[in-house]
Amino acid sequence: MKADFTVLGAGMVGVCVALHLQKRGYAVVLVDKRGAAEETSFGNAGMIQREAVNPHVFPQEFGVIMRYARNRSIDASYHLAALPRIASFMWGYWRNSHPKRYGDVTRSYARLIEHCVAEHDALAQESGATGLLRRDGWIRVYRTAEKRDAGFADAERAQRAFGVAFRALDARGLQEAEPHLSSVLVGGLHWTQPTTVGDPQALALAYLRRFGSLGGQFVQGDANTLTENGSGWRVDGAHGPIDAGKVVIALGPWSDGVTRALGYDLPLAVKRGYHMHYRAQGEAVLNRPIADSERGYCLTPMARGMRLTTGVEFALRDAAPTPVQLERAEPAARELFPLAERVDAEPWMGARPCTPDMLPVIGQAPRHPNMWFAFGHAHQGFTLGAVTGRLIAEMATGEQPFVDPTPYRAERFAR
Ligand SMILES: Cc1cc2nc3c(=O)[nH]c(=O)nc-3n(C[C@H](O)[C@H](O)[C@H](O)COP(=O)(O)OP(=O)(O)OC[C@H]3O[C@@H](n4cnc5c(N)ncnc54)[C@H](O)[C@@H]3O)c2cc1C
Repeated sequence: MKADFTVLGAGMVGVCVALHLQKRGYAVVLVDKRGAAEETSFGNAGMIQREAVNPHVFPQEFGVIMRYARNRSIDASYHLAALPRIASFMWGYWRNSHPKRYGDVTRSYARLIEHCVAEHDALAQESGATGLLRRDGWIRVYRTAEKRDAGFADAERAQRAFGVAFRALDARGLQEAEPHLSSVLVGGLHWTQPTTVGDPQALALAYLRRFGSLGGQFVQGDANTLTENGSGWRVDGAHGPIDAGKVVIALGPWSDGVTRALGYDLPLAVKRGYHMHYRAQGEAVLNRPIADSERGYCLTPMARGMRLTTGVEFALRDAAPTPVQLERAEPAARELFPLAERVDAEPWMGARPCTPDMLPVIGQAPRHPNMWFAFGHAHQGFTLGAVTGRLIAEMATGEQPFVDPTPYRAERFAR
């Protein structure tokens, strides 16, 4: 099988890259060892987060760090045994979260985030999938007035700097928006621009169908068989070798397997997360996702039920699941919304692909001009898939990129 491009990894990022290349007239083969969007892009909270201009920071306050160190939190947890292996990532993450550096990080991140809704809308439109997108935003709910007011103040700053839009809801406003939430809540920050989905995989599959209708091919194969082949690349597919002039690595949390084999020492790590679905009691409904920011989990109305997604678990990607945060979050969620029984037999686990400076890696491989990197999207890979797809396609085909790609180059980790 021959192509202009092979795209390795059919998560939300790889599917969007493949679609953007194919619609520019190139022959593209998309390769995954599984079906499309069956890994991290399957189990997320389904939010296309226009408000997420400030990437998730490593706390700088001593008290917060001590709280996390006790390893009893809902929002963050860690495997002690993993710490030696991820220590240098954690050190870099902490340093880049310092206010001196974080301002630059935020400005670079916001330049991608600002396009997320429009770019998904464009792909959804041509894929006949706009019906999958809900346009009610999502709400960060508050249990205390102090946190609520601090949240409103932060939102105003983000609005002034980055044009994000929100409604500040008091307790009554929140009850009007979400009548089945508990009245213990003192208000909410309603981000009005984000779109959300009731089935993240369904959106990726709609894009994949569009890719197929344009002549793109999706095949099973193992990215770890990638070898240089003359001036291009070869990878083993289920039905034989796939040869292409250029290759895009979009393997999410598995990207380092391929990059390391080619001699790149990129400081990648994962933040794992879990989900569980619940039935809602009686006629109770949630109109849009909520985040219980004072406890640290999200609850999203999904096609399968109410999806509770957990915060961050620092662990090795392939270590056995330890869904302690789910056990801790469930009682907190039951305080706020009438959840009935669990729907899934086992918790789902995924791994957010992370870099220590909180920015994704989007750009040409430093020592392989025919290879492109598209990974490391951490908490917002579902959000940024469509933006990344366009950016990679523009750069790899010689068009003018619609966002200055400099901050996302792999060279920043020059090693
Ligand atoms: C609990 C949780 C909640 C989240 N909520 C949100 C949210 O609301 N909004 C948001 O924007 N983001 C969210 N995220 C983050 C988001 O899900 C990820 O950033 C995103 O899915 C990453 O997409 P990806 O395409 O890079 O990786 P993936 O979706 O993981 O895709 C990588 C692909 O590579 C394939 N692969 C791996 N190894 C090989 C191999 N050897 N050969 C071939 N193929 C291979 C895999 O099968 C997979 O299909 C959340 C994450 C978690 C864990």
